[in-house]
Amino acid sequence: MSTTSIAWFRRDLRLFDNPAWAAATTADTALALYVIEPALLDSAGPFRRNALLHGIRRLDEQLRALGGRLRVEVGDPAEIVPAVADESGASSVHLNGDVTRWAQRRDDAVEQVLRVPMHRYWGTLVQPPGSVLTKAGTLSRVFTPFHNAWREVPVEPEAIAAAASVPDLPGAGAPAPEGPPPPTADALLDMATERAAAYPDARDLPGVAGTTELSTALRFGLVSARGIARALTGEGVGADAIVRQLAWRDWYAHTTHAHPDIDRVALRPEYDAIEWERGPDADRAFDAWREGRTGYPIVDAGMRQLAATGWMHNRVRMITASFLVKDLLVDWRRGERWFRHLLSDGDVPQNAGNWQWVAGTGPDAAPYFRIFNPTTQSRRFDPDGTYLRQWVPELAGLDDRGIHEPAAVAPLDLAAAGITLGQDYPFPIVDHTTAREETLAVYKRALESARDE
Ligand SMILES: Cc1cc2nc3c(=O)[nH]c(=O)nc-3n(C[C@H](O)[C@H](O)[C@H](O)COP(=O)(O)OP(=O)(O)OC[C@H]3O[C@@H](n4cnc5c(N)ncnc54)[C@H](O)[C@@H]3O)c2cc1C
Repeated sequence: MSTTSIAWFRRDLRLFDNPAWAAATTADTALALYVIEPALLDSAGPFRRNALLHGIRRLDEQLRALGGRLRVEVGDPAEIVPAVADESGASSVHLNGDVTRWAQRRDDAVEQVLRVPMHRYWGTLVQPPGSVLTKAGTLSRVFTPFHNAWREVPVEPEAIAAAASVPDLPGAGAPAPEGPPPPTADALLDMATERAAAYPDARDLPGVAGTTELSTALRFGLVSARGIARALTGEGVGADAIVRQLAWRDWYAHTTHAHPDIDRVALRPEYDAIEWERGPDADRAFDAWREGRTGYPIVDAGMRQLAATGWMHNRVRMITASFLVKDLLVDWRRGERWFRHLLSDGDVPQNAGNWQWVAGTGPDAAPYFRIFNPTTQSRRFDPDGTYLRQWVPELAGLDDRGIHEPAAVAPLDLAAAGITLGQDYPFPIVDHTTAREETLAVYKRALESARDE
């Protein structure tokens, strides 16, 4: 009797090295299914929505090359997956797991109502949660020991699909993407290989295209994380530095698997006592940050890059996040949500993990008393102002020193560059030195109150 299996795709929109797809293709017929969950699509900002819809299209194209289609349905997976299984006579459902609490709840709900077995794999990380443990059998709360252990775990070989037939039943279909298509995964992988040698020197410079730009493709599983690790490990210092970043990605995913509330709760609970700024002043500060008009050019450049492109350079993500939390004393959770809404790679584990790192509330985080000086960071990592001139063009006429701190530029030089502060570009929203002292006091109070309890 001929057999049918379903591969339920979610964050793994590819056929290459996809364990769930490879397992489904051991049946005679492998039905490829994607369920668009309206609440998730609505919560994604325009860039992530566009990336997802293009990803779905490209997966469909890959399946067409095999003579079939991606079946796309819209609605609640707990209704749709069992209905498709019943209708197709499938004897099993295969999927790659996801670490967020929503995904775990959703997958458990589907499994409960399915009348056929559901098999879970890991296809979006280099190493699955639970596979990288300390000698005591726990997940390390510090990155370096995690990384050391991670390097020792062999990367699984490529999951190779069998030659199942693929049905040509498109279902309801997906909405058309509204933005331009992102580069193909093959083009991105070529770019990553080309940039690898210079990566250690260039990766911190936002004015240089020196990172891999793979994050959105990784977010949607258009590329195989473990495939990249296999290809780059041992291929030189730069290639190894890229692979190390994939270990950070795994670490935040494993941490989220263990602490699914990572976007809501400080992983070091003593910091949940911080008295964040609230009320209209905090709202005004938050708006100025979101809109890129804080008067700190590097912060404004980053926030404008995010709003215009759905992506921001990692160094600038750190600077802008630090500014919101430690200069404006706005709760990191507000910033996390805004980033996640707009980033095309926006992802709970990576975003919340990094926000907690910046806020100093995560397990292995920047210590709270280390506060980025945005102007010093700007001079160090964008010395000739290339990045600032691109994103804050109203300051382009200032010289390479003044552009980082227009409020310190002499009035005559400002006038020569055609800038009136407060009109063409804002005065600094806070004084960094004063804000720093206040933040240190607030963090200290939170720690002391936790100690007294
Ligand atoms: C406040 C803040 C929020 C962030 N939010 C996200 C997010 O929502 N989604 C996301 O994918 N990354 C996030 N990052 C991590 C990082 O900024 C991006 O992954 C990186 O900028 C993407 O560019 P790239 O692909 O060129 O990175 P590369 O430098 O080329 O790195 C290669 C890959 O390694 C991974 N990686 C790199 N840096 C980190 C890191 N610090 N943490 C975890 N993984 C990393 C990414 O998957 C990246 O694609 C955030 C960082 C900060 C400071």
